Amino acid sequence: MITVKARSTSGPTDPFKPTTVDLRDPRPADVLIDIAYCGVCHTDVTHSRRLRSSTTRYPLVPGHEITGVVSAVGSEVTAFAVGDRVGVGCMVDSCRECEDCRAGLEQYCRVRHVKTYNDLGWDGQPTIGGYCEKVVVDQAYVVRIPETLPMQNAASLLCAGITMYSPLRHWKASAGKRVAIVGYGGLGHLGVAFSVALGAHTTVLEVTEDKKDDALGAGADGYRLTTDPETFTDLAGFFDLIISSVPADLDYDAFLKLLARDGTFVNLGVPKGPIKVEAFSLLAGRRSLAGSLIGGIEETQEMLEFCAEHDVQSQIEMIDADRIDEAFDRVSAGDVRYRFVIDISTLADV
Ligand code: ZN
Ligand code: ZN
Repeated sequence: MITVKARSTSGPTDPFKPTTVDLRDPRPADVLIDIAYCGVCHTDVTHSRRLRSSTTRYPLVPGHEITGVVSAVGSEVTAFAVGDRVGVGCMVDSCRECEDCRAGLEQYCRVRHVKTYNDLGWDGQPTIGGYCEKVVVDQAYVVRIPETLPMQNAASLLCAGITMYSPLRHWKASAGKRVAIVGYGGLGHLGVAFSVALGAHTTVLEVTEDKKDDALGAGADGYRLTTDPETFTDLAGFFDLIISSVPADLDYDAFLKLLARDGTFVNLGVPKGPIKVEAFSLLAGRRSLAGSLIGGIEETQEMLEFCAEHDVQSQIEMIDADRIDEAFDRVSAGDVRYRFVIDISTLADV
């Protein structure tokens, strides 16, 4: 067993405290990673504060946007060597045998994918996230960080980035296509960067003017307010693809009417209640309402190479480990530009 420093919370209202956790000794196919940075995802807040599920296992060490350097490898590891710059995202295992796993779509594994934290591995042991000094992961669920991508910016790409990249690629955002990104936050700002880099005409749909300069500076072609009824008349039938990155309850019928024939609205957020849609909003224009969940390991690697090639970077606010609770409050309030990243070197001794 390897004992390492971490930050954990003991209950929905308990602050994060310095602690130690025990990691498994690397198995033959495992990579031991010295974590440098870990992004703060909205999911970390919902699990830690038990805002949605009742299945949080405490004490909880969250974190699934991990970058670091390989410090040891098992005897069967061929993909990585000590010193390699690597990352770990939202999953650390899956069945590896089903049709989806074999297609590189491990996130849709027919059995289940093993989440990076707040889950149980196939050995029955709880998984431990990246608010921690080190992590042990099977090489098949580790990605390589290209040399030109700064490690602190790459962290947010491993959940927020791939969550946006995968649907943009699947629904073929490209030159000649009109794309809208709903919400310019942690996910949305990366969605705009990807959509612009893919050559699509890109519009941001937001509830506030606050982020307009940032969005246009990032290359967005348009920025329209969803609080303005004229947005919905001016842009009716305009988009081929709309991707919503927000967890809010939307007027889905209003958004579907912004789609051109055969357009798709992809919902990435999880609203509190069921999604309600008038059937005619889909029948008219043969429109689709779809969802998408992160991305596979191969596609995550592809996304990182794409970021290196097109200079797509997450806009981050770096924090030390003592500011996790404050960061959670600010994530809940939507007050971050655009993603918090924890400097793991600031974990204190217990
Ligand atoms: Zn996440
Ligand atoms: Zn599977």
